[in-house]
Amino acid sequence: MTSEKGPSTGDATLRRRIKPWEFETFFDPRELRKETCLLYEIKWGTSHKIWRNTGLNTTKHVEINFIEKFTSERNFSSSVSCCITWFLSWSPCWECCKAIKEFLSQHSNVTLVMYVARIFHHMDPQNRQELRDLVITSGVTVQIMRGPEYDHCWRNFVNYPPGEEAHWPRYPPLWMKLYALELHCIILSLPPCLKISRRYQHQQTLFSLKFQNCHFQMIPPYILLATEMIQPSVTWR
Ligand SMILES: [Zn+2]
Repeated sequence: MTSEKGPSTGDATLRRRIKPWEFETFFDPRELRKETCLLYEIKWGTSHKIWRNTGLNTTKHVEINFIEKFTSERNFSSSVSCCITWFLSWSPCWECCKAIKEFLSQHSNVTLVMYVARIFHHMDPQNRQELRDLVITSGVTVQIMRGPEYDHCWRNFVNYPPGEEAHWPRYPPLWMKLYALELHCIILSLPPCLKISRRYQHQQTLFSLKFQNCHFQMIPPYILLATEMIQPSVTWR
């Protein structure tokens, strides 16, 4: 019976929806899965219609697949403004950042907003540099996925079980705050302060924070305090 179903029977969006376990593991900020999952939305001009689809890495990274598919569409119009929103399990690697930059420089009608669950190899200087460039030079909005984005993706991209529309996965908010903090470091050209390691035997992802003076000087106190790893009594500057 239709009323007992999730978004499923007769729903034209079912074909592109991913399974709940896929969403839960791909987008878990503590999981360090190798593959990248992309959920995306495209909106043209003043139209209220939103095109949604999903993608995974193939022989190419998912970001490259998106760009190739998007630019090969026959009805692509460069005179109408286009808003693209990505929900990515990993932020783009430096090579994809370069490709995105190139794509945006050739399509001035396109704006790109990106929500990421984790930052890809965030200690790698090249990844940091190109991600920063994407934000500073190309004007891409990059943010860490939080509750509202998980909720939105669950409802619009996941074939959730019957009656579980509101049961999007709740991850420890600390992880989102840690990644948001590190993203700030990247954008502000600061050295990494977050270190992540994985204990495969115990299936545990661990982190440590190491601040330098420059972090206290440059990162807004509310971001540091939000991690709850810092005492408010610290003198900032
Ligand atoms: Zn890549």
